[in-house]
Amino acid sequence: MAIKTKSLCLLVAMQEEASPLVERLGLTEIVAPFAKGIPMRAWSAAEVEGRITLVSFGADPRFEGVSNIGTQPAVLAAHLAIERFAPDLMINAGTAGGFSSRGAEVGQVFLSADRFGYHDRIVPLPGYDESARGNYRGLDVSRIAADLNLKIGRISTGDSLRTLQTDAEEWERTEPALKEMEAAAIAWIAWTRRVPFFAIKAVADLVDTGDTPTEVQFTENLGAAVAALTEVVPRVITYCLGAVVDDLAL
Ligand code: SAH
Repeated sequence: MAIKTKSLCLLVAMQEEASPLVERLGLTEIVAPFAKGIPMRAWSAAEVEGRITLVSFGADPRFEGVSNIGTQPAVLAAHLAIERFAPDLMINAGTAGGFSSRGAEVGQVFLSADRFGYHDRIVPLPGYDESARGNYRGLDVSRIAADLNLKIGRISTGDSLRTLQTDAEEWERTEPALKEMEAAAIAWIAWTRRVPFFAIKAVADLVDTGDTPTEVQFTENLGAAVAALTEVVPRVITYCLGAVVDDLAL
């Protein structure tokens, strides 16, 4: 029987990315959605076609205005979201660094290619090498991208904002369009639990051009990237919510 997308869950790392989406989608915060001490926050809304939930990673209580980012909170947030909301589609929405050599421009919004890997987990032992790199399969959303006129880009995940010495070597093999800090971690859980998954990422900085450090570009462009993300995510949700899951993938 055809399964419809009745429970769609957005996973968003930073509160600066989550808040405009919560407002645009008209979501209401769920009080104490997870166990005591868990920093993740959750919002939801019931639509005619199904339920939308958004889980953000919450704040690091030790530092003012600092969200939990990276793969550590990403795994936990994705697991908790699956347990609590039983989504039949999970989407990681956020910002990313873009590779201009592969067509990325600041403010552009990409949907993910169907593979999610890491660039900072280098384990030169047979079997462990490819296991560590991840390369998890996600949903092939090339039809959604074509219908909504969005680009598709391969995403590479790592736990540093700054580019490390070994990254270039990995990227030569994987040729990503985007780098960020969460998608592959969520893809792992999604694949493990058989929850269809893809990502929507707005480019906040360019990794391979100019002399301006990533963190300077990121801070300058975060607002514009989040604005672009906030425009695109509701269109993708309208497309996916209520659609037959098998029809979403190619
Ligand atoms: N210091 C920043 C913290 C954000 S870190 C601040 O001023 O708020 C970067 C976050 O945005 C992560 O969640 C990551 O997924 C994404 N991101 C954007 N550009 C990135 C890049 N070039 N490399 C890695 N992650 C990036």
